[in-house]
Amino acid sequence: MSDDFLLLNPGPVPLSEPVRAAMDAPMVSHRSAEFEATYERAQDGLDEIFTASTPSGESTGEGTSLILNGTATMGMEMAVSNLVDPDDEVVSLVNGKFGRRFARIAERYADVTRVEADWGDSLDVDAVAEAITDDTALVTLVHNETSTGLLNPVEAVGDLVAEHDALFVVDGVTSIGGDEFRIDDWNVDVAVTDGQKALAAPPGISAVFVTDRAAEQADGERGPFYSDVEWHLRKADQHQTPFTSAVPLFRSLAVAVEEIHDEGMPNRIERHRRQSEAFREGFAALGLEGFPEVSGPTELSNTLTAISLPEAIRGDESSAFFDAVKERNVSISGGQAHLGGDIFRVSNMGNLTADQIARGVRTVGEALGD
Ligand code: PLP
Repeated sequence: MSDDFLLLNPGPVPLSEPVRAAMDAPMVSHRSAEFEATYERAQDGLDEIFTASTPSGESTGEGTSLILNGTATMGMEMAVSNLVDPDDEVVSLVNGKFGRRFARIAERYADVTRVEADWGDSLDVDAVAEAITDDTALVTLVHNETSTGLLNPVEAVGDLVAEHDALFVVDGVTSIGGDEFRIDDWNVDVAVTDGQKALAAPPGISAVFVTDRAAEQADGERGPFYSDVEWHLRKADQHQTPFTSAVPLFRSLAVAVEEIHDEGMPNRIERHRRQSEAFREGFAALGLEGFPEVSGPTELSNTLTAISLPEAIRGDESSAFFDAVKERNVSISGGQAHLGGDIFRVSNMGNLTADQIARGVRTVGEALGD
């Protein structure tokens, strides 16, 4: 891979030199004091990111960050499976690939009602209000829908969840670490994020934040053996994981969250907002249209941008465009599932510079002109 390769996919994202270097150190036991110190550094950083991702940096929640050997799908499954019984009613909100994934996971463990909108459309909050009742045990929602570039209304849904005293499990995989996230104010019980996204750590490691209320309900008798929340909480007290830890990934994560601490979440949120705006404005100046339809409390993502391909190069015709981007040593993503060939997506998650954002726009412009 040459030095000027620019990775703009919505995960994995580019790594800083110190984050990469952290993986290349002599191995230690996952039961050693050295490893426990690494776990503690990563956990301290995550606690701050989960609870104080606000524009002014104030704290919005209390609980425990658990670090997992595995990508965020493992965290999503851990969150749901430890909190429901098979006859419990779950409401899953679906307006993209990852909302659908959450529903599919929940369907393995409980009785699920889906509230759906077309991928790229905003969720209808009135329909959500109708679906959540006093019988609802748990609600799943993806905050930042990576497949479409929509920022779903966690606060509005969280108010409805709280009215019915249900549990609220939120996928913040492509928002947490780059955008605002408010645990208590939004009534979130469990939040999930991933190393490889806005945290700018390598893929293969993820984290869940378990509030004390959710912890009380995780009794160690439900869910997959490997993802037992109660067991993970007990081991996290000792700065360990129940099973062998992916030591190099934990080391990288510790450095990545310290870099976030050094930038400061308020600055990081502001920078991500500025950079996503720059992407949107740049693509608009090329005559391109944004893909998602925003209405109600839904907003456009601040961490990734989805753009409709011009009619003339949709479907099979789109491969020449994607090839032309690739030839310029830039990596972007197409649409997922049925959106393949209709849209492209770029991420501004992590630690990109203004020059890299500008290069992304310039490259798309050149590729369209080819
Ligand atoms: N949730 C969202 C919103 C995502 O964007 C992703 C990855 O792209 C995931 C969950 C987790 O996916 P995986 O476990 O395949 O890394």
